[in-house]
Amino acid sequence: MWGKLKVISSFAILIGVVVLLAEVDETFNLYNAPYLLIAGGMIGLIFSLIGSNKESSFLCRVGLHKYKRGNRDNEVPAMYVYTCERCHKQKRAASVV
Ligand SMILES: [Zn+2]
Repeated sequence: MWGKLKVISSFAILIGVVVLLAEVDETFNLYNAPYLLIAGGMIGLIFSLIGSNKESSFLCRVGLHKYKRGNRDNEVPAMYVYTCERCHKQKRAASVV
């Protein structure tokens, strides 16, 4: 859910910036639409960041949790599936050894 919000917010900012740079408002008279898009996108982005931070531990994100190496990834054999010992979050990474 938060990932989707992040994508939509990023798009809103991007469209707002593009419209602003292209100066489409002079032709189509969009008033403050680009500014509203950018402002709305920023707010959405902040909310999505706060939301995703709640989902996974901050300590885990900065790498203070211990990850246990599991099985090889099904799709990419060079990658291993690592599971966090504390919050059981899974990530894929290439084998260090
Ligand atoms: Zn963790």
